[in-house]
Amino acid sequence: MQIYKVGGAVRDRLLGKPVTDIDWVVVGATTEEMLAKGFRPVGADFPVFLHPKSGEEYALARTERKSGRGYGGFTFHASPEVTLEEDLIRRDLTINAMAEDDQQNLTDPYHGQRDLEARLLRHVSPAFAEDPLRVLRVARFAARYAGLGFTVAPETLELMRQLSESGELEALTAERSWKEISRALMEDQPQVFIEVLRECGALKVLMPEVDALFGVPQPEAHHPEIDTGVHTLSVLEQAAQHKQPLTVRWACLLHDLGKGLTPEEEWPRHIAHEHKGLKLIKAVNERFKAPKDCQELALLVGEYHTHGHRALELKPSTLLELLQSFDVYRRPHRFEEFIAACEMDARGRKGLEQRSYPQAEYLRGAANATRTVAVQPLLEKGFKGPELGEAIKRERLKALKAYKEAASA
Ligand code: ATP
Ligand code: MG
Repeated sequence: MQIYKVGGAVRDRLLGKPVTDIDWVVVGATTEEMLAKGFRPVGADFPVFLHPKSGEEYALARTERKSGRGYGGFTFHASPEVTLEEDLIRRDLTINAMAEDDQQNLTDPYHGQRDLEARLLRHVSPAFAEDPLRVLRVARFAARYAGLGFTVAPETLELMRQLSESGELEALTAERSWKEISRALMEDQPQVFIEVLRECGALKVLMPEVDALFGVPQPEAHHPEIDTGVHTLSVLEQAAQHKQPLTVRWACLLHDLGKGLTPEEEWPRHIAHEHKGLKLIKAVNERFKAPKDCQELALLVGEYHTHGHRALELKPSTLLELLQSFDVYRRPHRFEEFIAACEMDARGRKGLEQRSYPQAEYLRGAANATRTVAVQPLLEKGFKGPELGEAIKRERLKALKAYKEAASA
């Protein structure tokens, strides 16, 4: 048997990028031989094994054929006769379809190295169209390597366009899609992921609620970039530049969905878009079965981001309601993420990227002010049950009034 490094490890070494996980392909071996060498099988349908020591993935060279809709409709054929070239041709991009032996001799039948130099994301063969997930993968690689100057080859974009129009994207499972979306959002330039999806028509299918934001104007006084889609991309870009976690990035992407629902005659104003957007945010959350913390933050940011921006003008009672909606005493971390998302929203406006956001400190201060209210003295006064709750609320309100006065003094 011959063993080769494949995929990302080869690509990233040639790009001079750090290699984190290594995928291997094994040519000329049977399952029995692998088991006899101590490899542990993973997955029922794939001929993939884990190395007994390193735990890295070793896949038997295989060919694939599409036999139906979606990913379930794939048949695999692995045997010792399958050649390295046959295995490589089933891969998505030419830059991912190179193999390397232990002497670093490159096998590159589909010219991945040429495309690395040309900074092109190009599909290996027309079989690309057999797995719609590749549309998301290409957009994700575009987001990852945009900083190096990579773009999607025109003929690949055309294939992605055909795939998006074919209805195949709808056959993707929530789990496979979310894995790509979440990884893409964590790349350096996540806005490129959304741009590429939009360019090939996939955004309209996957997240029509986000696609609808393009072409929707906002008041120029607050939003010099005017277009809501452009603004959303900038907010995402800011979130990546400020190294925000996935929860915040997801919330940034979805915060303004309500603006896509405004009737044209009301443009460029978007009255109550925060509230109107909630059902759309919920729909996108559920479509991709986003993790609970992502879902929750997206809904809260959607509903309250304008409160965040107006923090300094809010009445103490409104401020208290805001803090309580966030359950800030038990979930301080989530409130911090809300503040971060609001700040990214404010910075994601043309020409205002560097403007300071005093609301952040103010909101933190407000949460801290209410935290100083101690429960023990109220218990000692004999409050209990709902009355205790009311008493705590009154004390917190008092604390917020004092905080607001001190801040404006
Ligand atoms: P990363 O750095 O994100 O891990 P990678 O290229 O190693 O990038 P993996 O998802 O680990 O990506 O997959 C390893 C290799 O398997 C890819 O380089 C590619 O050749 C192939 N591959 C993975 N998923 C697909 C797919 N859906 N269609 C075609 N080829 C794929
Ligand atoms: Mg990999």
